[in-house]
Amino acid sequence: MPYLEISKKNFFHNHQMIAQAITPKEKKGIKGEIAIVLKDNAYGHGIMEIASLAKEVGIKTAFVKNLQEALSIKTFFDNIAILYPNSLPNKNALESALKIPSISFCTPSLESLQEYPSKTNIELKVDSGMHRNGIDKTKLRDAFELITTRNLNLKGVFTHNGYGDDLNSAFYVQDMEFLEIKKEALKLCEHFKIPRPKFHSLSSSGALRASNFNASLPKELQDDLFRIGIAFYGYNCSSPNTLKLKPIASLFANKISTLKLKKGTSIGYSGVSMLETDGIVSTYDIGYGDGLFRVREGMELYTTEGYRILPRASMDCISIESDTSSVCIFNDVSAFAKSFNTIPYEILVHLHAYIPRFIV
Ligand SMILES: *Cc1c(COP(=O)(O)O)cnc(C)c1O
Repeated sequence: MPYLEISKKNFFHNHQMIAQAITPKEKKGIKGEIAIVLKDNAYGHGIMEIASLAKEVGIKTAFVKNLQEALSIKTFFDNIAILYPNSLPNKNALESALKIPSISFCTPSLESLQEYPSKTNIELKVDSGMHRNGIDKTKLRDAFELITTRNLNLKGVFTHNGYGDDLNSAFYVQDMEFLEIKKEALKLCEHFKIPRPKFHSLSSSGALRASNFNASLPKELQDDLFRIGIAFYGYNCSSPNTLKLKPIASLFANKISTLKLKKGTSIGYSGVSMLETDGIVSTYDIGYGDGLFRVREGMELYTTEGYRILPRASMDCISIESDTSSVCIFNDVSAFAKSFNTIPYEILVHLHAYIPRFIV
């Protein structure tokens, strides 16, 4: 059975580094709440396990993908925002979620504001330049009108700055655009007699970049919270890499069988791997069916013990030049991400939910 170990120590370390970078205690007047993003099974780490660790370090707000995720962690947080309430629709889950006062629903359009009954907690999403989800800035007034007439509870106004990883001015252009949105929202709050909602716009890379600028704004225009995902899991995907974060997940697999093979023997599908010397090769019980990307010819990947992973991976197993009863496939997915020309998020999030997670 493959399994994931989640390092509590590294999670706590990351939390400390993030807090120190974004809301340093010694800087007076810096406010801002660190919220955790737990969507997609906590980026493949196991939503229950990560929720329990987040609660332990005092995190009060979590962002999840869908209704089911929100319900699964309802006892852990004071505020749970559902980013995509309509993905995985389920009438019973919706009814349950509507009854829980800590749960709020992200609304990316004027139409979506009409889907909810009176008193529903709403996080209004506004487009600030990513041109993905969210209402246009010019529709802000219409949204406030709908919120008032439908008697919705406006908990937040937010956007997603999609340029945090790019070291150019696009990030700041979007940041300024959200500042304008916040100013407009404050005017509308006054007009419609709605209490000031929480403002938020920054994910890991953006928060690390802009928390100082945020703190320099007049208090009422500051973002109130930061939506931190990948940094909690131990990866700093933007350069320059200033924070010393530690990956929290290690993936292990157990041995299925072992063969002693002669030099020149080919292994696996199409025999693409060939032994250059006599050696021992074992198969281990994780494959691309479990969500680990399919290691194939041309890729050089090693377990953390230094054993070579032999292409091609199969659906339910992989061959490794090793004889040990279990191996650690990775304790940092950076090498996998590089080999597959992708980002750590994509490697991690694919790990199947049925793989057991253990907090160590
Ligand atoms: C996923 C997500 C985040 C977290 O992004 P990270 O880069 O993992 O910190 C923040 N906000 C929204 C809306 C997201 O969808």
